[in-house]
Amino acid sequence: MISQNTIKKPKNLKKEIAAASLREDTDESLEELIEKANEATPEVRTKLKKEIVRNKKFADFIKRRANFVCEICKQSPFIQKNGKPYAEADHITPLGGDTNGLDSPKNMRCLCAQCHAIVTHGAEEEIRKLIESNT
Ligand SMILES: [Zn+2]
Repeated sequence: MISQNTIKKPKNLKKEIAAASLREDTDESLEELIEKANEATPEVRTKLKKEIVRNKKFADFIKRRANFVCEICKQSPFIQKNGKPYAEADHITPLGGDTNGLDSPKNMRCLCAQCHAIVTHGAEEEIRKLIESNT
């Protein structure tokens, strides 16, 4: 049994992980990090984040318009813990940046989590395969 004295405080763990990450990246240092992570509760931090404001009413509208069915693969939604269907609102032309797409239903579609991840983070080849296999 582990006594309270052997559990490291997250504050100390943060310093140890920072020091370990400066060392050469070896399996041994990863093992040390895992051992330490198994002894302490995860650290909590507060972030200040800058993001483009999206209109939640538009996202809800396009999901309802599609009956929460993915507009690429036609996958039906899964039901969440709260009893509501799950789908994601995708901006076809991304907001902000170089593309500066609109936060408007005419620039939005309802997608499942997998298709949304592929069109947002996937390589061009993956996106092309996804689109071609569903048209
Ligand atoms: Zn899909």
